[in-house]
Amino acid sequence: MFASVPTESTHRPTLDPLGASVSADAAAPQAIDVIALGWVDNAGITRVKTIPYGRLDAAATHGVGFSPVFDVFLADDSITAGTLVGGPTGDLRLIPDLAALRPLAAQPGWAWAPGDRYTQDGVAYAGCQRTFARRMTARAGLRGLSLRMGFEVEWITGTEDPAGRFLPAFHKAAYGMTRVVRVSGQLRELVRALAAQHVSVLQVHPEYAAGQLEVSVAPEDPVGAADTTILVRETIRAVAARHGHTVSFAPCVLPGEVGNGAHLHFSPWRDGTNLCHGGEGPQGLTHEGEAFLAGVLRELPALLAIGAPGAASHLRLEPDRWAGVYHCWGLENREAALRLVTGMTGERQHTANAELKCFDATANPYLVVGTVIAAGLAGIEDGLRLPTEVPGDPSAVAGVPRLPDSPAAALAALEASEVLREALGETLFDAITAVRRAEIARAAEMTPAEIAAEARRLY
Ligand code: GLU
Ligand code: MG
Repeated sequence: MFASVPTESTHRPTLDPLGASVSADAAAPQAIDVIALGWVDNAGITRVKTIPYGRLDAAATHGVGFSPVFDVFLADDSITAGTLVGGPTGDLRLIPDLAALRPLAAQPGWAWAPGDRYTQDGVAYAGCQRTFARRMTARAGLRGLSLRMGFEVEWITGTEDPAGRFLPAFHKAAYGMTRVVRVSGQLRELVRALAAQHVSVLQVHPEYAAGQLEVSVAPEDPVGAADTTILVRETIRAVAARHGHTVSFAPCVLPGEVGNGAHLHFSPWRDGTNLCHGGEGPQGLTHEGEAFLAGVLRELPALLAIGAPGAASHLRLEPDRWAGVYHCWGLENREAALRLVTGMTGERQHTANAELKCFDATANPYLVVGTVIAAGLAGIEDGLRLPTEVPGDPSAVAGVPRLPDSPAAALAALEASEVLREALGETLFDAITAVRRAEIARAAEMTPAEIAAEARRLY
């Protein structure tokens, strides 16, 4: 049947959709009545088609109808066109990945499954972002490499006043126990909901900015990491709503404050060995691990157009906010875009990894994982070495450049990147660049305050 895409094995359990739903506040399993089939568009908006449970078999076999025009939707639901993608005609099939289906514990009776898109002839659609992520994972696999990845999820929780102004749930203290006390019921429910959905939570903690909280999850395969971050975000949103809170994952919720990142942690592995540890390269990297990281670092200006794509992203990308705006790497350096994390002695063979700090949650996570793999593999192909490490505040070191300082500058870097253009393929590249150009034109008509307010509501 739909066998044209190389797949990788996933370690996540397959669920019996009817028996697996657990409500966040009830011990008894509940039957699933409705399933949200999800995808993320090129503007980073998570969209769904929903079906009654009885239609799941049919959807898993032949999919649900899906206009290709969704690929050129902008964040505000207006529509642009690329050279290859756009217009009212055509149809695709969105097919849920049953292995990734999860009950939605905070939405009793509901489940969610990410979907892949196929043509009506059953061929993988060239514009499908999740298929792209799987294709890049398979490309790594052909070289004997696997990737472990995980996104951190930062968000701001609060309420809206009648005038639509956002009021964060708390102010000081950063990382303060007072914050946890204020939302302890909500956080407990969240941890229970995520456990019921088979998400492996590492930490949930109060962050720095007003109203800011964070969840970090265990690493997994790249597509699984992208699926998980969408599931985590929507679970946070649903749990918060049950407590009268509204949340936002937007990069800049409160202008002038520290924003929300969606840092990507990643490590390349070969034959069960972590290539970020135990090698002869800098800080214990293996030569192959170093080359992978160097490939990512080389493409970082272009990757920014994927991982921090819009005008709202650039409201966050300021120095001294641990958003990683400098185009450099460093061991445990939170101002470097690429931070090497080793973990504690005794566990490093498992934990050593790299973190991309400059990315945020307006990105499509499937595009993020796929393009990072493509960039890393190109680094190995070219035998790259890392430049000199930047140990302290990069602004104090002569010659350390900033990443592109606008969506237009990042888009220019993406358009000039042969590595990413080849990896994405012409259909996906066309759709993404068309969306970026149209979003740049849209933002040109808005003030920074309007950009932040819009992103706060959309993401
Ligand atoms: N909130 C910061 C950001 O915008 C990151 C803080 C941290 O290092 O966790 O990315
Ligand atoms: Mg954080």
